[in-house]
Amino acid sequence: MRLIILGPPGAGKGTQADFIVKKYKIPHISTGDILRENIKDETDLGKKAKDYMDKGSLVPDELVIALVQERITREDCKEGFLLDGFPRTTAQAVALDAELRKLGISLDRAINIMVDPELLIERAVGRRVCKTCGATYHVTFNPPEEEGKCDIDHTTLIQRDDDTEETVKNRIQVYTNQTSPLIDYYKAQGLLLNVNGAQEIDAVFNDIVAGLEQ
Ligand code: ADP
Ligand code: AMP
Ligand code: ZN
Repeated sequence: MRLIILGPPGAGKGTQADFIVKKYKIPHISTGDILRENIKDETDLGKKAKDYMDKGSLVPDELVIALVQERITREDCKEGFLLDGFPRTTAQAVALDAELRKLGISLDRAINIMVDPELLIERAVGRRVCKTCGATYHVTFNPPEEEGKCDIDHTTLIQRDDDTEETVKNRIQVYTNQTSPLIDYYKAQGLLLNVNGAQEIDAVFNDIVAGLEQ
């Protein structure tokens, strides 16, 4: 299954992606995670991306497109993949289509997680992540068993640098201007699966599975 997951920052893309990739046994490709990894490792890409990410702006298309083109041609993507956080601009979506055509494959669905802007800031600002395994928690909505510690490996949870209220507001604006047009782009291709993201995590996942298996 070849999937993309769309939605504003804090909608729950990463959370749902973790469940989806377990169920369908496909790799989870999060461009945000890959970019943060590059920043941590101080690679050339990481150095180029950092200032944009800190501000909540988009990293230039050519950098992100090249990274995804390389990633989806790896062996583990043969049976499918889930792209999370990509595409984020029409140029990225067009480049993805071109790359898939070149590879002789196509997307099966574009999952769109819909959440009203009022909920997004609280979700993103309360997000806590594990540096070791990538697990995502929320201080109120999805707390770990022991406060501040990952359930899986007990690493101390951290807050992302870009999860401050001010940066989240900017990221929502960027989403509205540059990414939300992709909803119509995928609707026109007959691939859009709209899901109400303002429900409990399990209920959102149930709706995604029901939609994918329709
Ligand atoms: P995204 O990848 O879209 O930015 P995340 O999956 O990281 O979003 O979720 C953002 C925050 O909201 C996290 O702290 C997560 O635990 C929490 N969250 C995710 N889905 C829900 C939900 N359905 N209800 C409440 N909180 C949620
Ligand atoms: P995310 O982890 O998806 O919330 O992404 C965090 C940040 O990484 C974004 O605010 C952007 O700065 C950058 N980023 C991630 N994916 C992309 C993309 N497809 N295009 C441009 N920038 C991206
Ligand atoms: Zn962990």
